[in-house]
Amino acid sequence: MSQDHASDIIHRVRAIVRESVVLLEPDFLADGIGAIAPRLEALRQRVREEGLLAPHLPTAYGGAGLSLAVFGRLSEELGWSPLGHYVFNGQAPDVGNMELLLHHGSDEQKERFLRPLAAGTIRSCFAMTEPDRAGSNPVWLATTARADGGDYVIDGRKWFTSAADGAAFAIVMAVTAPEAAPHARASMFLVPTDTPGFRLVRNIPVMGDPGSGYFSHGEVAFEGCRVPASARIGAAGAGFALAQERLGPGRIHHCLRWVGVCERALHMTCERAARRELAPGVRLASKQAVQHAIADSRAEIDAARLLVLRTAERIDAEGAKAARADVSLIKFFVAGVLDRVLDRAVQVHGALGLTDDTVLSFWYRHERAARIYDGPDEVHKSALARHVLRPYGVDVEI
Ligand SMILES: Cc1cc2nc3c(=O)[nH]c(=O)nc-3n(C[C@H](O)[C@H](O)[C@H](O)COP(=O)(O)OP(=O)(O)OC[C@H]3O[C@@H](n4cnc5c(N)ncnc54)[C@H](O)[C@@H]3O)c2cc1C
Repeated sequence: MSQDHASDIIHRVRAIVRESVVLLEPDFLADGIGAIAPRLEALRQRVREEGLLAPHLPTAYGGAGLSLAVFGRLSEELGWSPLGHYVFNGQAPDVGNMELLLHHGSDEQKERFLRPLAAGTIRSCFAMTEPDRAGSNPVWLATTARADGGDYVIDGRKWFTSAADGAAFAIVMAVTAPEAAPHARASMFLVPTDTPGFRLVRNIPVMGDPGSGYFSHGEVAFEGCRVPASARIGAAGAGFALAQERLGPGRIHHCLRWVGVCERALHMTCERAARRELAPGVRLASKQAVQHAIADSRAEIDAARLLVLRTAERIDAEGAKAARADVSLIKFFVAGVLDRVLDRAVQVHGALGLTDDTVLSFWYRHERAARIYDGPDEVHKSALARHVLRPYGVDVEI
């Protein structure tokens, strides 16, 4: 794709997000996604007609065939609003599931699951983490999928299955070979959510908010949940390798979405500092402490963006494996920047920053998770340290 074409797409997306998507935010913040469903769908239809839906996918699936680096820049634009990715059908966990099916799904799986997902007519979820096992150790799962005749029978419990509420299917990680080497024990399965034995137990309240629909995190039970062998994605025992592959580009998407969130938060911080008076004629922005907060955020956001784009370009050029240490670096670094930039934005807004009159408190509640999901900070720091220390003859255990 030419630079001009990429820039054109980015400008069109920016205009839709900043002029139309943001208008839905006040009702979304006040009453949840259900309250804006018809208007969201109308915006999605406009995006579909403009050929901008699911832009990360190849044109054969209605996408724009963008490279990871270009989709990353787009992800920053979409991150300006909590609704941006959803309107363009570029939201987690669907994006990761689409990529997984695109690269590893059978023809039948692509037709039945990927095609409607790409068209935005259904949603999906990804069920790997379990309440009773440490999610940071992805090879230690309790959920099993037992071969039975030509089927698999899945039993176990998952949680933080984001967007399970209303999803048409789940991609589930379950142990198929308990005696195999740890990295070869699990497989991945496509499970339609109307399969008997699949049960959404609850939407888990996060910082007081159980959410609903796409904006929720489900606890899910698999109780004798029977699926045919054709529901398995890839080879038996390939679950861990597939999960790793799914997460690589996913972290680029997340990191640039966070950069977009940061840009909006800094913009709001500057607007507030320029407007708010502490006394007649004394603006908040005149205080050195506020100026320093703004300067710190500006510097950290710019550094974050450059690091993520460098990593995306490396993945595009050399593949995900070559960029593994870079991906760990950006995951914890950008999550930390997000945490600090949002905190400064709330601080500068004072009490207003804690209300739902602005988008900041939504992000403050929900984006704390960035330092935990897709690998907590500590795991990524150890992974990076392992890479940095290897030439010194030190083998870092994670
Ligand atoms: C908002 C949100 C959305 C999510 N969405 C999904 C989803 O859609 N699907 C899904 O399957 N999962 C999802 N998750 C789960 C997420 O992947 C896990 O929370 C994550 O892997 C961490 O696992 P855990 O919560 O079990 O924490 P644990 O593994 O119990 O770890 C707890 C803490 O221990 C520390 N720690 C862990 N390992 C180490 C180490 N090696 N060295 C030092 N300290 C360490 C870290 O501080 C960590 O936060 C989501 C989580 C959140 C918060």
